[in-house]
Amino acid sequence: MKMSPQHNQAVQQMQPGVITAEGFLGTDKRPLADIIQADEEQAARLDIEWEQLAALLRKFYKAGIQALGGTIEFLGKWNVKVDEARGLLPCPFKDGLFHKHTILVTHKPSGQQLLFSELSLHLLEKHHFLQGKGSTFRLELSELKTVLDL
Ligand SMILES: [Zn+2]
Repeated sequence: MKMSPQHNQAVQQMQPGVITAEGFLGTDKRPLADIIQADEEQAARLDIEWEQLAALLRKFYKAGIQALGGTIEFLGKWNVKVDEARGLLPCPFKDGLFHKHTILVTHKPSGQQLLFSELSLHLLEKHHFLQGKGSTFRLELSELKTVLDL
């Protein structure tokens, strides 16, 4: 996929120390447009709908935030814990500000865990960007499928 000016601006914002200390690209050397395209192709192969995936993650977030800082059981099969730091983070694509909330989901049957933030949920939903390989908040679609029972 060709890099647009928006992609190039976002890549600058994604570097370590700009929005977050770690940045968004991890050790991934691929162009941003290629990262997004590869995940879109993977989602199609796994039969994952982006809107449906985002809506589901939002349900975990909403459930967990009711017990901010504590663990809550969700639908019998998951534990959800939302932690909060002060302040807001801008999206690297410059279309919004997000709470520094991290959401840890544990799939009880497998013990597998999934960590995302309010910003990573937005990046998934609006930009189909799951972050670079090696990034703390990188979301792997194959893992999402297991942890979320998709
Ligand atoms: Zn955005």
